[in-house]
Amino acid sequence: MPAAPTTPNESKRLAALRSYNILDTATEEDFDELTELASAICSTPIALISFVDKDRQWFKSRHGLDVTETDRALSFCAHAINSPTEILEVENAKEDKRFMDNELVTGPMDITFYAGVPLVDISGAALGSLCVIDSVQHKLNSSQRKALKTLARQVIDKLELRKKVLELDNSRKRIKRLNELLLAKEREATQIIEHTPTAMALHVGEDMEIRFANKMMLGAWGKDERVFGMNFKDALPELDKLDFPTTMRQVYRKGIHYEQKEAHMLYMHYGKLKEFYYNYAFTPLKLSDGSVWGVLNTAVDVTDIVKSRIAVERAEEQLRLAVQSAQLGTWSINADTYEFNASDRTKELFGFLPDEDITYESAVNQITEEYRDKVNSTVETAIKENRGFDMEYAITGLHDGKLRWVRATGKLYAADDSKAALFSGTLSDITERKQDEQRKNDFIGMVSHELKTPLTSMKGYLQIIGQRANKLGDAPIADFTKKTQRQADKMQALVTGFLDVARITEGKIQLNNDVFDINDVMRAAEDEFSVSCKGANITFRLCDSLLINGDKDKMEQVLINFINNAIKYSADEPEVTITCTKAGDNALVTVSDRGIGIPAADIPYIFDRFYRVENTHVKMISGFGIGLYICKEIIEHHGGTVGVQSEPGKGSDFWFSVPLSKQPINNTSR
Ligand code: ADP
Repeated sequence: MPAAPTTPNESKRLAALRSYNILDTATEEDFDELTELASAICSTPIALISFVDKDRQWFKSRHGLDVTETDRALSFCAHAINSPTEILEVENAKEDKRFMDNELVTGPMDITFYAGVPLVDISGAALGSLCVIDSVQHKLNSSQRKALKTLARQVIDKLELRKKVLELDNSRKRIKRLNELLLAKEREATQIIEHTPTAMALHVGEDMEIRFANKMMLGAWGKDERVFGMNFKDALPELDKLDFPTTMRQVYRKGIHYEQKEAHMLYMHYGKLKEFYYNYAFTPLKLSDGSVWGVLNTAVDVTDIVKSRIAVERAEEQLRLAVQSAQLGTWSINADTYEFNASDRTKELFGFLPDEDITYESAVNQITEEYRDKVNSTVETAIKENRGFDMEYAITGLHDGKLRWVRATGKLYAADDSKAALFSGTLSDITERKQDEQRKNDFIGMVSHELKTPLTSMKGYLQIIGQRANKLGDAPIADFTKKTQRQADKMQALVTGFLDVARITEGKIQLNNDVFDINDVMRAAEDEFSVSCKGANITFRLCDSLLINGDKDKMEQVLINFINNAIKYSADEPEVTITCTKAGDNALVTVSDRGIGIPAADIPYIFDRFYRVENTHVKMISGFGIGLYICKEIIEHHGGTVGVQSEPGKGSDFWFSVPLSKQPINNTSR
């Protein structure tokens, strides 16, 4: 017997059949009722619901038959499905050429009669048939045929229904699984958020419901846990203007991460309008299939950082303006390579053109010879020892040859990750001040010089007048002469001081060196003050012999100056103590008073030329501010140092220290 040819769209038909998930399933009452009905209506002992698989026919319901499946090649149904719209009715298979050799006809199944209605689903695929079978010949009447067709439709209906129920069940299971997954994910996310030291919140749904937020995020919002479960808009009306939900919704829908850096926000925070800067991000939370189930909201408060950066930027701008208006030049030197960076103004002060390259060496070359080495070595030590730099020096301009005086101040800025250590600072033009000073010095020097000779002869004459008056016993004249002599002495001290300043400025200070005991200087001062200063209580505390190699008279001048000041800047009964001690390899002499003291702000300048403290106490006391300057120069020419500790209203300790001599007294010749 020829097997039924396969249907023209067999693979599609098989796919449709598989989609019902019916093959090899257990028997179902619904289907069994239909085969029972079919067998009753058609008066046949056997009725089957048969599905034609690739190589077999399988019976979902079999009324009156034990076999569950047969070979497709033997199948009557395989024939039936080739004409999906018709009933295949074989009244007597034993006489029908198509079936007479069929095992099912000749064998124990002994089929004689067969009538099958193709089971065609809504897509048009013929899946199998509802058939009735008998071992005796039959012929269906029209109502039996009609009933069989109706039952076949019912089989299909039940099949469709069963498929839908199965699908529904599957999707219910899927949803359940999804919900469980979401809950697990949410729990996981919540735990992470809770323990992360960054403000974080979890939002779900189109309205960005707040599922969870950690303490930091609640703090950033100025809210508490009552916002959980609320829509973003309702929970945070304060942020309405910033319209975060719209952005978050985009992230939710498109699954694309969104972030903003240093976003400026102004909103009511715990009842007060506050300004913030945030780095924030909205991250879509996805399932393994890529679908978004939530949005993670992360925010980092960078308000302090941004505000301090803005403050620094403002300060830099102000500094730039200040530098510009003060016509300051700026410069920097790379501490490792000495690469030199100069502003246009700095270039101008060195006599360079603005677009011209200027190196450290070429700049130093323009410094006048007198200062060049000093500047160079001071820069080197300042860089090496991380010291401040403050120097005044002269420059001859490269192109214009002009002599300019400048004050350069600088400081070392430590290296950081991105930059090497920089030694940088400013340069100001002090030419005018220097020229003024020069004129003043010249004038003082000249006047003092001119006064010196007449003053000396005036003092000589006064001495003679005094002697004569004494001889003649003219007491009043002798007294006037004495007073005039004292005034002349003061004038001479002043003139000597001015001449000293002029000499120092011109670098002409001369020392008559000798080895002597510092106590000799103390004793000389003691003699001087025992005669000239009766009102003051002056105590000298001498020390063990300390030998100094230097100019004894000049050192005496320094000590007398300190003591004079201690008396001058004290109240009615000055108390002055002078001590000398050995301090390491130095002799240290200190003059302590309980006078008016010096304000801290004045101390750094107190040894500068012409510097006087500007207050009412000092104004009442005459002076020119040159004494301490001369003292400092004298001591520094001895390789020593001077200094002061002072407290206003309590008194001052002026001191100088000079290196001890390495030679004994006897070996020294003048
Ligand atoms: P002068 O005394 O002529 O003004 P100096 O150079 O000797 O000049 O002193 C400079 C300034 O230092 C004084 O004007 C005064 O303001 C302050 N000064 C010096 N010695 C003392 C001291 N012992 N106590 C308080 N102030 C002092």
